[in-house]
Formats: sequence, structure tokens, C-alpha cells
Amino acid sequence: MDYEFGEEGNQLRSLLRELIHERMPPGFLGAFTDDPEDLAITQRFCKELAARGLLTLSWPEEFGGQAGSLWDQTVVREEMWAHHEPRGAQYMGLNWVGPSIMEFGTEHQKAVHLPPIAAGERIWCQGFSEPDAGSDLFALSTRAIPEGDGWRISGQKIWTSYAEMAGYCFLAARVPETGDEPGGITIFLIPMDREGIEVRPIRSMLGRHHLNECFFDNVWASADEILGGVGGGSKVIRRTLSYERVGIARYARCDRLLSLLSRSLEGTWDTLPPALRTRWNKALIKVRTARLLAYRCVAAQVRGDATSNTLASVARVAVTQCDQEVAETLMQVLGHRTLEGAGADAPFYGAMEDHWRYAQASTVAAGAIEVQRETVARSVLGRASGSRAS
Ligand SMILES: Cc1cc2nc3c(=O)[nH]c(=O)nc-3n(C[C@H](O)[C@H](O)[C@H](O)COP(=O)(O)OP(=O)(O)OC[C@H]3O[C@@H](n4cnc5c(N)ncnc54)[C@H](O)[C@@H]3O)c2cc1C
Repeated sequence: MDYEFGEEGNQLRSLLRELIHERMPPGFLGAFTDDPEDLAITQRFCKELAARGLLTLSWPEEFGGQAGSLWDQTVVREEMWAHHEPRGAQYMGLNWVGPSIMEFGTEHQKAVHLPPIAAGERIWCQGFSEPDAGSDLFALSTRAIPEGDGWRISGQKIWTSYAEMAGYCFLAARVPETGDEPGGITIFLIPMDREGIEVRPIRSMLGRHHLNECFFDNVWASADEILGGVGGGSKVIRRTLSYERVGIARYARCDRLLSLLSRSLEGTWDTLPPALRTRWNKALIKVRTARLLAYRCVAAQVRGDATSNTLASVARVAVTQCDQEVAETLMQVLGHRTLEGAGADAPFYGAMEDHWRYAQASTVAAGAIEVQRETVARSVLGRASGSRAS
């Protein structure tokens, strides 16, 4: 398989780098810092990407895209993640909420939800995990009880990224069996300002606005807010998770940070202890391996191959492991200077320390690494699974 992106891909990459260089302040470390201006910058940048047709490049034209290929989208996600995700929380909508609505949504849902995502105007959050349902997602207990021509939803979600700033929630709830209706896990597309929803931020080392608890107290949902039909949630979630797992190109930031570090050591590189130089080289090999495994999954998605779900887990295992290995390597090489904070006086504006903090959570977010491995094993052994990973 030839993974060369060709002239067009390279031009797209150069254009994105130029835009990021021009629009992002030096030392930009993402939208979720203590400086509210960082969030505002990402919101402006998303609108500019949308106006230039770069935000939803691979989406079909009828939904506000440019009908570009998934490979174009791969270039976009690599450049964005490499430069601390200048799209902020928008990537959720672009990578998996939008595609899931295109695949499972009604015409009405597509008309309501896709244009604001394509315009970079609406942030989504994912309401899957609960205090007693993470890896074992299909044990979730948030309930949706039928009432009149709609539903009343009650329950608690946890670790909900961006819930504080999100306009909508992609919410998983359990519908009870009634009469001839089978019930089961069901996805609701719920506006976050609906009565009965309370968001409580969770303080964490991932920065402000990141993690939250969400409480749903008798929240109303109409029948046309259900995605994929009553009881259709498991199928939707499986698709959603496979999009999500290759949607974050963590290997691209790893590659960039390793290279920034080695360039900064030009002239003194040979004075580093041989064990550290070996560690740097091994980390780079892991990064390049993870990149190829991610490309393998994208290739399967382009072919519409059913193995893409498993390949997404294979890639995710490699990508999250390389994230952590690179974080440790950067720390080892830079030593105590890694901890000199953020800002212009800190080495690399604090990017290495920021990467280390985020890397710690990478083998848990979007499904724990043990569970991803289980998915791969089950797929090889040909057994079905009822966990988050399948
Ligand atoms: C940064 C971050 C962002 C997140 N954002 C969101 C979000 O936006 N929306 C959302 O819904 N959730 C989100 N999550 C939650 C995430 O999906 C869960 O944390 C994850 O699925 C694990 O679930 P858990 O925390 O309940 O751990 P558990 O499922 O309780 O797992 C605890 C440990 O047991 C191990 N384990 C569990 N089952 C098995 C098994 N079958 N075999 C082997 N080992 C097993 C796990 O690997 C893990 O090490 C986020 C998490 C993080 C860290």
C-alpha cells in the first residue's frame, strides 16, 4: 500500500500550516487553558476554516462539505492535532457526530444538525460514560421513560468532555421494553440548555472546561430527537467509537514535539547519554508505526471494509502507547526544565509538559487500552462482545 499523499495532499498540508502559523499566537496550547482568549481564538479559527471549505473537507457537498477524501481529512486532523488542536472542541462534531448523523439520521436531523457543525458554530459533547458504566458501557443506567409523544430522561453522566460549552449532547440512555416495543439503548440528540440538565465541572490536570459531570433530571426529549431508532443505540455507538478512535492523530503531535526537541539540541545532541538518544529513536519508531496503523484503518474506512472497527482499536492501542512513550522521552531529555510552566520563558512554551499531562489520560479516554486489546482479540477469535470496545 502506498501512503504518499501526493501533490494535492502536500499543498493542503502547507496551506494548513501557513494558516495556523498566521492565526495562532506563539505557544498556543489548545482551547482549554486558563486564558478564555484561547477558546475564543479556536472559535474564530473554526469559522475561518469553514469559510475556506476546510472544516468539513471530506463531508459530502450536500451537507456543507467539499466531497474531499478521508485522506484529505487525515491531513487536516494531523496538522490540527500536531499544533494543539486549533479547532478546540469542534473536532467531536466533525469527526464523529456529523458522520454518525449522516449515516443514521433522518432528513430532518441532517437538516437541523449538519449545517451548524459545517459552519463551525456548534459544539457537541458525548454523554456515554456513567459512574458505573465506562468500559462496560452497555450497562448504562440513564433511563428514558415514554411520556405522551416523547420521553423523559433521568440519570448521570461523567467525564463528559466540553459539556460546559457544548450546545448539544449525543446522549445514550436506556429505554425500557413496553408491550410489543423492544426498548434498549437509544441515542438522543439533546440541546444542553434544556430544562433539567445540570453540568458540574470536574477539576483535573487536563485544564479548564475539559471534564464534567452531567445530571439529567426528567429531561424532555421528543421522538424526532432519537438517532437510529428506539433500541438502535448499540449499533450507532459502535460506529461512533470507531470514527472517534482514529479521529485524534496523537502521533502527529508526538512526531512534531520529538522533532522540535532534536532541532533545539542541534550541536549538543551528541553529548546526550547514548541511552537517551536510543530512547528518542525508539520513540520515533513507535510514532511512525502508529501513523501507519492509523493509515491502515483509514484505508479500510475508504474501502467501506467491515474490519475498520477492529483496525481502529489496533491503531488506538499503538497511538496511545506512543503518546505516553514520547511524553516520557521528552521529560527525560529535557529534565527538570519540562516543569518550567507555560509562556514565552518556558522551554517550548510549556508544550512538553502539556503533552505529558494529556498523554496520561490517553490510554483511558475513548475506551481503556485493555478493552481495546480485548476488542482486537475477540475480532481475531470471532466472538461478539457487549463492552464499550466492540
Ligand atoms: C480525557 C478523557 C475524556 C473523556 N471524555 C469522555 C466523553 O466526552 N464522554 C464520555 O462519555 N466519556 C468520556 N471519557 C470516559 C472514558 O470513555 C472512560 O473513562 C473509559 O471508557 C473507561 O471507563 P471507566 O473510567 O469507567 O473505567 P472502568 O471501565 O471502570 O475501567 C477501570 C479499569 O479496569 C479495566 N477494565 C475494565 N473492563 C475490563 C475488561 N473487560 N478487561 C480488562 N480490563 C478491564 C480498564 O481497562 C481500566 O484500567 C473520557 C475519559 C477521559 C480520560
